[in-house]
Amino acid sequence: MNRRELLKQLGFGLTAGMVLPSLMVSCAKDDPGPEIQYDGTVAVIGGGAAGLYAADILTAKGVNVVLFEASGQLGGRVRSLRNQRDESGLPITSIADFPVEVGAEIIYGSDSVWNQIVRNLNVAEVDLDVVATDLYRLANEVKAAADWGNDSDFAAVRDFVEGLPNYSGGAVSIEAAAGVTPRAANLLNARAANTFGSTASRIGAKGLGESLAAIEHDQKRILVTRNPMQDVLVSRFAEMAKRARLNTPIVSINYSGARIVLTDGSGNQTEVDKVIVTAPLAVLKAGDIAFTPGLPGTNTAAFSQLGMDACVRVILDFKKNFWGEDTGFIWGGNLVPQYFNAGVTRSQLYRTLTATVYGVKAEQLAALGSTNAIVAILAELDEIYAGQATEFIRRDLNNNQIISFLFNWTQDPYIKGGFSYPLVNGSLESRASLSTPVQGKVFFAGEATDITGNAGTINGALASAERAVEEVVQSILNPI
Ligand SMILES: Cc1cc2nc3c(=O)[nH]c(=O)nc-3n(C[C@H](O)[C@H](O)[C@H](O)COP(=O)(O)OP(=O)(O)OC[C@H]3O[C@@H](n4cnc5c(N)ncnc54)[C@H](O)[C@@H]3O)c2cc1C
Repeated sequence: MNRRELLKQLGFGLTAGMVLPSLMVSCAKDDPGPEIQYDGTVAVIGGGAAGLYAADILTAKGVNVVLFEASGQLGGRVRSLRNQRDESGLPITSIADFPVEVGAEIIYGSDSVWNQIVRNLNVAEVDLDVVATDLYRLANEVKAAADWGNDSDFAAVRDFVEGLPNYSGGAVSIEAAAGVTPRAANLLNARAANTFGSTASRIGAKGLGESLAAIEHDQKRILVTRNPMQDVLVSRFAEMAKRARLNTPIVSINYSGARIVLTDGSGNQTEVDKVIVTAPLAVLKAGDIAFTPGLPGTNTAAFSQLGMDACVRVILDFKKNFWGEDTGFIWGGNLVPQYFNAGVTRSQLYRTLTATVYGVKAEQLAALGSTNAIVAILAELDEIYAGQATEFIRRDLNNNQIISFLFNWTQDPYIKGGFSYPLVNGSLESRASLSTPVQGKVFFAGEATDITGNAGTINGALASAERAVEEVVQSILNPI
């Protein structure tokens, strides 16, 4: 039985439940102490969704936790524009009159673990598919699905995407598996690749199909209407925020001795007994955290089966909405596969578009440099909307500069890209291997290690935290 099958048998990967039933056995009826009796300390590396949740569950169980975050803020890839600073360190004055996201912007699944948390906080949200309609581009035409009717290229992409969970073909790329006409190539790339973190020539159809088939939550897409997503996440884990050591990148983890020695970027050392590493896949692959001894081949073999590519998010504000107030996403651009009408139901103005690009196209966009990238995006929108993008883009009244924000996630030294995806030879088993605990001391969480089919999302990060915590607890209850 492989590791994934074993985890599934233990209950991981079936539901991302909020309770860890097997832990209850350690709690004697009259025991006034914490659920887990443990004198040691568990370090959590990374203060994104996975790290915050893992630290929170462990703390709730009475385990002493210390959380290290490399950057100056918590949230990781859940990052809102309002909380960012410009190059001179000044807070970014909001582009729009509503929260705009630099990272995650959609909650997947109304019954998902992340949406349960958001609902518990009573945060205002809407079902995107009720309030908005997605548009799809083929050549220079943009239309809703219903208006494409029986167009054979549109149908080919739609049918391929809908059939992905049942994919039974070979271990080839999305591009090879779909085999669509050149006219449909950009739409395929947008719908079946960009939305999953890369490009159609890079993502493996088998691994992606397997993941999509494993998802258990519904297909609803939820939008938080008034609150920045990062504030929602950090507020839920406010207790962890108080304990987190910010600006503390861990550069080495030496687990060769009885205790684990963590060294941060300033050379300070901290001794702990167990560590959960939640740093993104690209950070692990780059070797930015040195492990002593080196990680076993079981873990590192997954590096050649899972990818994490370049990612750029651009926020553009216009004086006029020319793409439709009730538009949701606009899929299928050549330069930008995926635009989002970020103001939908959040603003009376609806005049902001976000552009999200992964993989090869993100590399190409980033290579243009910020200014040229924005000009190129406006030119692409002009092609569809008869010059209105350049005409109506908002400009600074003092210097006529375009008001926009481009965030290159690849250049964030502690993220280094978008999110993980299966390469042609990648599978859920690759993710299970990546997260294999090492000597009962080193554990792995984070979206790339999710085996519930939700990798690349906040749900995946949270589910991985539950799994890693359970593994830590089992290692405490049943030491090697
Ligand atoms: C542009 C973009 C759009 C997205 N859109 C969506 C969406 O709409 N919906 C959705 O559900 N998901 C979306 N995602 C994915 C989602 O954001 C991630 O899957 C999720 O937030 C990952 O959480 P994590 O805890 O695994 O990793 P992260 O959030 O990346 O957290 C890891 C943390 O580790 C820190 N770190 C790294 N190295 C070190 C070190 N050496 N020492 C200490 N700390 C370190 C990092 O600074 C970071 O804070 C999007 C991602 C991106 C980039």
